[in-house]
Amino acid sequence: MGVDAPAPFCLLSLDVSDFSRLQARLGHKACLNLMQMLCNALRDALGARGRVIAVGEGRFGAVVAKIFNSGHAMLAAEKLARTADGLFGQVDLAIKPRVFIGVAIGTGNGLLAEELLQKSQIAAEAARARSERVVVYDSSCDREVLLSWSLGNDFARALDGGELSVHYQPKIDVDSGIPSGAEALMRWERDGKPVATPDVFIPLATEAGLMQQLTWYSLSNALRASVAADIPIAVNISAEILHHREFLDMMHTAITTWNPGKHAATVEITEGALVTDFEEAMQRLNRLRDMGIRVSIDDFGTGYSSLGYFKKIPADELKVDKSFVRNLVGDPDDRRLVKTIIELARHFRMQVVAEGVEDWQTFDTLADLGCDCIQGFLFARAMSLERLQDWLTHNRRDLRVDRTAAEMQPPRTAVVSAAEVQALAR
Ligand code: C2E
Ligand code: CA
Ligand code: CA
Repeated sequence: MGVDAPAPFCLLSLDVSDFSRLQARLGHKACLNLMQMLCNALRDALGARGRVIAVGEGRFGAVVAKIFNSGHAMLAAEKLARTADGLFGQVDLAIKPRVFIGVAIGTGNGLLAEELLQKSQIAAEAARARSERVVVYDSSCDREVLLSWSLGNDFARALDGGELSVHYQPKIDVDSGIPSGAEALMRWERDGKPVATPDVFIPLATEAGLMQQLTWYSLSNALRASVAADIPIAVNISAEILHHREFLDMMHTAITTWNPGKHAATVEITEGALVTDFEEAMQRLNRLRDMGIRVSIDDFGTGYSSLGYFKKIPADELKVDKSFVRNLVGDPDDRRLVKTIIELARHFRMQVVAEGVEDWQTFDTLADLGCDCIQGFLFARAMSLERLQDWLTHNRRDLRVDRTAAEMQPPRTAVVSAAEVQALAR
């Protein structure tokens, strides 16, 4: 490179996740101190190779010199991310803050600093949307962030505007073939058509700080529906809500206000949500059971909790993740795995529910393996309370008798799924 050629460099935008909630939890002064410590730690990490400035409100910018390609830039960004993780690891909070880093590479000529800064900020937003620590800017980031922003705005309006509703998917008892419960699943519809799937809007709600509102909404509807439809109903609780300081109060208020009577309420908590702060999570599960609430471990087999931890989990039910159920009939490995999960649950006196059951062969295989309860499109998709009541009127009977019932067709209306968002962004 000639002496006059400008040296390549990169600009990094570093955003602290959930900054406003961090401020609320720690208090203004402690949060300010933490941000100052972070700034110093980032400066130490970069040393003479770069400069770090605090942009404000949990945002930092960094310039790093002598960056020749995106691999180089990733290394620098990863180093900063690890530095932040190390510092945040010492913060006394159940859910540790994280950083999202966007990177834009400059050649020293061509792109203006302002343009580069904007690109690094868009890449940081994309990192947040993808839940990845570091994203290097490319044109896919623009589309992804735009999509996420417009859906995010729409979603906040949806919660206020009555576009959200709670639907219920029946669960069938294997021994009797009779519906024995249902799971509450959130739906976002406009003019009777789905707008986006929960896999897309639940992360948006989390990001927008609306999860508490959304959980209260699904909880209060589900408890009332349980009485109206005369069936136990389970509600999904996210990791963030399980660890929220008002969670146990919220559950207590819900149970006393919308008393589900003879049908104990169940909360479904993913195995992964328990790993965050295990001891705290266990205490909370015990408190729920003290309140008469059943605890179900959702997506079991995907959360990597070790058996040593597993034996300490106070749960009434295990839900086998649908990824193991899908190929059960054709894949002996999946069959062995599900058999082991069912034996494990038996050992700890837990009920086993298998989700994602779409055909009778899978149903029979699960019945042979000793599964207690089945949920899946084979019997019904999630439906409104009115339809559930109607469905139960006709189907509170042994559903194994009528094996000719046509399996339900997928909805014809367009829904934005997580996979489509990824594909659009590509
Ligand atoms: P999940 O808790 O694992 O819920 C089961 C999902 O499997 C539902 O997807 C359901 O429609 C789908 N499913 C059930 N049977 C079958 C089947 O036979 N085949 C296939 N392919 N899928 C089946 P859904 O409704 O799209 O929800 C996705 C996820 O969104 C849920 O997974 C849950 O984690 C989350 N979610 C939905 N509503 C809420 C909510 O109110 N609060 C929270 N925290 N999460 C929710
Ligand atoms: Ca669930
Ligand atoms: Ca599940």
